[in-house]
Amino acid sequence: MTDSATPADLPPFPAEGDLGNVLITEEQIQTRVAELGIELARKHQGHTPLFVAVMKGSVIFAADLLRAYAGPVEFDVMIVSSYGDSLETSGVVKIVKDLDTSANGRHVVLVEDIVDTGLTMQYLLKHFEQQGAASVSVCSLLVREGRSSEPVVHHVGFEIPHDFVIGYGLDAAQIFRNLPYIGVFTGTVDGH
Ligand code: 5GP
Repeated sequence: MTDSATPADLPPFPAEGDLGNVLITEEQIQTRVAELGIELARKHQGHTPLFVAVMKGSVIFAADLLRAYAGPVEFDVMIVSSYGDSLETSGVVKIVKDLDTSANGRHVVLVEDIVDTGLTMQYLLKHFEQQGAASVSVCSLLVREGRSSEPVVHHVGFEIPHDFVIGYGLDAAQIFRNLPYIGVFTGTVDGH
């Protein structure tokens, strides 16, 4: 084992110049995720909540959050798209894959990577209300500083500035989800 995340026979990833600064370290993320797990387990004591990971960005956060949750919990995923391969939201939320299970009567915890404009969450909250969920909580690893207070994000990992971020599940044109930290993306998205 070497200290480096990249073995000596592989080129460094990410390539030099692809990224700006690290905004939130791996250690800071792990500490906060553990706290969120406890917070959610306290809130749902006596129930079996349904965690819904909003794919694909929340894939790594959801996996860690589930393991930090000490209690019975069900898990499902939704695939929702509002950005496509662009850095700008299209403004239109599309459900690409809905739940396998019914949310009727369930305590739903929506697990998001980032609440930016809030459009995606607003859409999903309405969707789950219509499905007859007993309660819906929003747990987002990141929220934008200074965003309007709607929709309410009940459990927040970190507030971040207006930079486009990658890592820990978040992508730029589908790349960089596997970084263990959150970094500011300063590169371009057409370098596949
Ligand atoms: P909203 O609907 O709140 O504007 O956007 C939420 C979705 O936009 C997130 O789930 C995420 O997929 C995407 N998004 C917003 N900001 C960023 C960002 O800085 N980086 C990445 N990778 N995705 C973002």
